[in-house]
Amino acid sequence: MTEDWIRPGEWIGILGGGQLGRMTAQAAHRLGYRVRVLDPDPRSPAGQVADEHVQAAYDAAAAADLARRCAVVTYEFENIPLQAAEAAERAGRLYPAARVLGRSRNRIREKDAVTAVGLETAPYRPVRSAAEAERALSELGAPVLLKTAEGGYDGKGQIQVGNAAEAVDAFRQLCPGPDDHAVAERVVPILKELSVVGARGRDGSVRCFPPAENHHANGILDWSRVPADVPADVRQRAEEAAQRLLEAWDVVGLMAVEFFWTADGRLLVNETAPRPHNSGHYTLEACRTSQFEQLVRAVTGLPLGDPALREPAAMVNLLGDLWQDAGGDPDVRSALTLDVSLHLYGKAEARAGRKMGHITATAPTADAALQRALEARRRFARAAPSATP
Ligand code: AMP
Repeated sequence: MTEDWIRPGEWIGILGGGQLGRMTAQAAHRLGYRVRVLDPDPRSPAGQVADEHVQAAYDAAAAADLARRCAVVTYEFENIPLQAAEAAERAGRLYPAARVLGRSRNRIREKDAVTAVGLETAPYRPVRSAAEAERALSELGAPVLLKTAEGGYDGKGQIQVGNAAEAVDAFRQLCPGPDDHAVAERVVPILKELSVVGARGRDGSVRCFPPAENHHANGILDWSRVPADVPADVRQRAEEAAQRLLEAWDVVGLMAVEFFWTADGRLLVNETAPRPHNSGHYTLEACRTSQFEQLVRAVTGLPLGDPALREPAAMVNLLGDLWQDAGGDPDVRSALTLDVSLHLYGKAEARAGRKMGHITATAPTADAALQRALEARRRFARAAPSATP
């Protein structure tokens, strides 16, 4: 193990103040670290719980300053400017490295780097012009999904196309700027979507959390359950693939890997994210170590914790839409009469599609956990009874 480990009491910096940063800060606090969050939003979820909130834009100067004032810096979302991550790295210590971030957030570089280590993705082509969009469609065979190379999330920034005219239109819509690129992917027959969150320490040790089975609605994660309802060998292949990526990419910190398990039995890497992942929230209640604590351990040079599952679990997301369903006042008390854990991220404004919180349940089976978590969400979505009838 590296000797220059970071002692409790020292400062951990987080670029980004969303819920992933909030839960990381809470885990860091439990281990006695102090947390400084950089986020321009005065009410950011992580800023609310940090020891210090630096309210500034994600520019190189602010990121470098953060790195100088913290023993280590990490980030909680991919869309911080790469220059800011690089500046933090030059000024101090950044995990995962800016190089990992630059690769994960660009779908072309990411897929090239996945296939370079012998793992499979959906067949793809880089698309840098309308002509390349047409050519990709004819080479891959319709239908294909055209996705922006950078900046897409939660299913945004992608269009399915079936013919050359649609491919050209979609390219022009997704890539209006001269430097905007896209990737074309063949639409593959997905049976299930899985994800594995893995950690790699500064000493090179790797621990992966059990694969989650993920269900999306409108391009946004709706629920996850663990163990994933797939054959044991598929779960094992997913963990091995995640481990291979963490090692081959020399990641220090946490990285989530999303997979498609297809009708013809293949396990395709969809995307990677070098940060805590929504599908790993279940680890807070269900694993011996949470993904957030594991990130803190990895970046500070502490030994990695045991990722083993204590009990089957499910997590359901709470989007802003639920507040609208509930007339602005969800029935929290009714939801919590069930045996579930409620996490709310402290966001003031419940916009449609915005991740406001999540509910986790554990049970003897993943399906029982899922049914209870879904029932809790249904209750949550009802208007709370008013005090005066
Ligand atoms: P992404 O933003 O790449 O995670 O894609 C969002 C969702 O679109 C995925 O979770 C899948 O459900 C679906 N999807 C993405 N790529 C493909 C593909 N090549 N074939 C079929 N479905 C896909």
